[in-house]
Amino acid sequence: QDYQTSESRYKEMNYRRCGNSGIKLPEISLGLWHNFGDVDNFETSNQIIRTAFDNGITHFDLANNYGPPPGSAETNFGKILKKDFSSYRDEMIISSKAGYTMWQGPYGDWGSKKYLVSSLDQSLKRMQLEYVDIFYHHRPDPETPLEETMAALDLIVRQGKALYVGLSNYNTPEFLKATAILKELGTPCLIHQPKYSMFERWVEKSLLDTLEKVQIGCIPFSPLAQGLLTNKYLKGIPENSRLAKAHGFLTEAYATPDKIEKAKQLSEIALQRNQSLAQMAIAWLLKDKRVTSVLVGASSSEQLLDSLNSIRNTTFSEEELISINNILNR
Ligand code: NDP
Repeated sequence: QDYQTSESRYKEMNYRRCGNSGIKLPEISLGLWHNFGDVDNFETSNQIIRTAFDNGITHFDLANNYGPPPGSAETNFGKILKKDFSSYRDEMIISSKAGYTMWQGPYGDWGSKKYLVSSLDQSLKRMQLEYVDIFYHHRPDPETPLEETMAALDLIVRQGKALYVGLSNYNTPEFLKATAILKELGTPCLIHQPKYSMFERWVEKSLLDTLEKVQIGCIPFSPLAQGLLTNKYLKGIPENSRLAKAHGFLTEAYATPDKIEKAKQLSEIALQRNQSLAQMAIAWLLKDKRVTSVLVGASSSEQLLDSLNSIRNTTFSEEELISINNILNR
């Protein structure tokens, strides 16, 4: 192991308790959806993980299908773990998921016990791990009985392949049904992972209140709307951006001129706060104590360091909040 992690890695980061569990998560966690596949530069990916850990990011979020090709993010992360972090496993919270299409045929998608159990076995092999800390059902399955999917999560914990379970992309009623089943099985749900950013505010209707009430954590994904809530696209589409990449999930249909215009206006407010737009977008989520951790992506260590600085100022004046809402509701 030739990598020495920073001795001061826990100095700056704040940790928030996840619901009423024993786990605390860093205010910023790192997701490996993009930038860690075989299509990406391994050295850069490695550097991003080192930067994250050196700065107190203890939580790394993966899924079976991250890449491309699907599975390669877990394989690459496994290599990085083995090479640099083998003595730090106990300082890390590693998650994976199953729920989207992973392999051909009827058993590589959605929410059957068959799919979840075999998918996690594959993920563990790819990451060269004995267990993950959190295993998620990635999206609700309208056809499989919730009882079966939740029983699969419970089984996985009892088998020791995951310590905690989470749910992602479930709406409030689905979530409440699922967590009631999990509770009865004796495997409480640790956390919900919804899409939440200045551009995607559905969770504010009822999910956040519900999570607070049932004391379950919340880790918003795509807090920067995949890069739209940064200064990146204010003057066109840069080469090498997620929007420009053929395998990127950010599309021109989503990156509308209206959103770019709003980002421009938001960046003015960020400037007054002495923050980059990315920093303000993350801070805006962290201002809410119901949010346990904000799950960012990064294509370079520099970006991650920029995003990390958001934790220095997560309070907003009433005026700032009104101005932000005025822009977003236009
Ligand atoms: P973000 O909204 O944080 O977007 C990340 C992208 O924004 C980066 O790749 C980069 O784009 C750009 N960026 C990041 N930081 C900066 C910065 N400081 N300045 C300028 N640009 C910046 O999150 P993601 O969409 O990547 O999602 C984060 C994680 O959430 C995923 O990795 C995954 O773990 C999870 N997720 C979960 C889903 C689910 O269904 N449960 C779905 C989607 C994500 P560029 O590459 O162009 O440089």
